[in-house]
Amino acid sequence: MSALGEAVVDLDAIASNVRTIASIAGTELMAVVKADGFGHGAVPVARAALLAGAGWLGVTSASEALALRSAGITAPTLSWLHRPDDDFDQLIAAGVDVGVSTTTHLQAVVDAAHRLGVPATVQLKADTGLSRNGAAGDDWPELVGWARKYEVEGGIRVRGVWSHLADADAPGSPGLASQVAVFEEALRVARSAGLDPDLVHLANSAAALAAPRTRFDLCRIGLALYGVDPFGGTGPGDVGLRAAMTLRTTVVNVKRVPAGTGVSYGPGYVTGAPTTLALLPLGYADGLTRAAEGRAEVWLGGRRRPIVGRIAMDQCVVDVGDLPVAIGDRVVVFGPDRGDHAQPTVAEWARWAGTNPHEILTGVGARVARDHLHERAETS
Ligand SMILES: *Cc1c(COP(=O)(O)O)cnc(C)c1O
Repeated sequence: MSALGEAVVDLDAIASNVRTIASIAGTELMAVVKADGFGHGAVPVARAALLAGAGWLGVTSASEALALRSAGITAPTLSWLHRPDDDFDQLIAAGVDVGVSTTTHLQAVVDAAHRLGVPATVQLKADTGLSRNGAAGDDWPELVGWARKYEVEGGIRVRGVWSHLADADAPGSPGLASQVAVFEEALRVARSAGLDPDLVHLANSAAALAAPRTRFDLCRIGLALYGVDPFGGTGPGDVGLRAAMTLRTTVVNVKRVPAGTGVSYGPGYVTGAPTTLALLPLGYADGLTRAAEGRAEVWLGGRRRPIVGRIAMDQCVVDVGDLPVAIGDRVVVFGPDRGDHAQPTVAEWARWAGTNPHEILTGVGARVARDHLHERAETS
C-alpha cells in the first residue's frame, strides 16, 4: 500500500530533544504523547522518549493511555481529561495515574477502585488561572479534603498535585508569576490537609526551558519534544531542538501553461506569465490548511516555490516558474530547519496559517503514512 504523502519521523531527534530539555530543566520529564504524539505516532515517540530518559508519559484520555498499555508500554503514565462516566476500572487496572479535577470525578474513581479492590493512584489538578480543568477557589480545599479522606480509607493514593500554565511562552509575564503563586498556595492547602504528593508539576515545554520557578519535580513536554521551539526561534528556545517530522510527497503532474490560466477552484488565482505548474497529491485533509493559502511555500527542485490557488481537500498546485520539474520529483512541505532558509518549517506553516505549530502537527491527516526512522528495540 502506498500513501500519497509521508510524515517521516526521526526518533533520534525525539531522543536528542529529551536530553537537551532534561539538561536545561534539571528535572524528570513527562513526554506528552496526546493526540497520537502530536501526529508523530504516540507509541514510537513514547518508546524513544523513555529510552532517552523521560520518566513519565502524559496523555489526554483514557483511550490514549490504554493504547500505550496495549502496545506493551508499562512506564508511569498520567491521563488527565475524562468524562465522569469514563471506564476508570480499566485505567486503574492498567496502572495509569488519573488526573482528577472535580469531586464528581474523584467519586467515580473511588467507586471504580472499590469495585476492583485496588487503590487508584490520582494526581489532583488545581486551576491556577487557565480556567479550564482543575479545581479553583473553594473547590480546591473541598477536592483536597475528600481526597485525603479517601486516601486514609485506602481507596486512593494521591501521588501528584499539578496545574497548567496559560502563557508560559511569555516568561516575564505577570500572569506566569501569579500562576506560580496560586499554585504554591494550592500546594500549601493540600499539604495542610494531610496530603504528601511525591510529584508536583506545573511546567510545559516553554516553562521547562525558560521559567525555573515552574519546574518543581517534573516538566511536561509537548511541543519541544517534537523539536519545535515554543518561542518561535529566538530567545530561550534556541537550544538546538531538532524538528522530528518531515512532511513530504512527490509531484504527480506537471504542465506548462500560458499567462491568464486559472488555477484550482474559484476565480482566486490566474497566472501572470507563462509558467510551469506542479500538482501535489496532498490537500487540507492531509494537513495543508487552507488558512495558509496565498503564503504557503514548499521545497521543490532545490528551491522554495509557492502553493497557488485554493488548496483542495486532496491536492494543491505549486507554481514552479521556469524551473525544470518532472513527475516523481520529491517535495518537502515542511521539515527541520537547516539554518539556510531552505525547506519550510512547521513554525513557518503556523505563521502562514495564523495558528500555532501544535495545530499544524496534529492536523497532518490520518492517510499520510508515518514512517519512523531509528526505531530501537523494545522498552517498557
Ligand atoms: C498539551 C499539554 C502539555 C504540553 O504542552 P507544550 O506546550 O506542548 O509543551 C503539557 N501539559 C498539559 C496538561 C497539556 O495538555
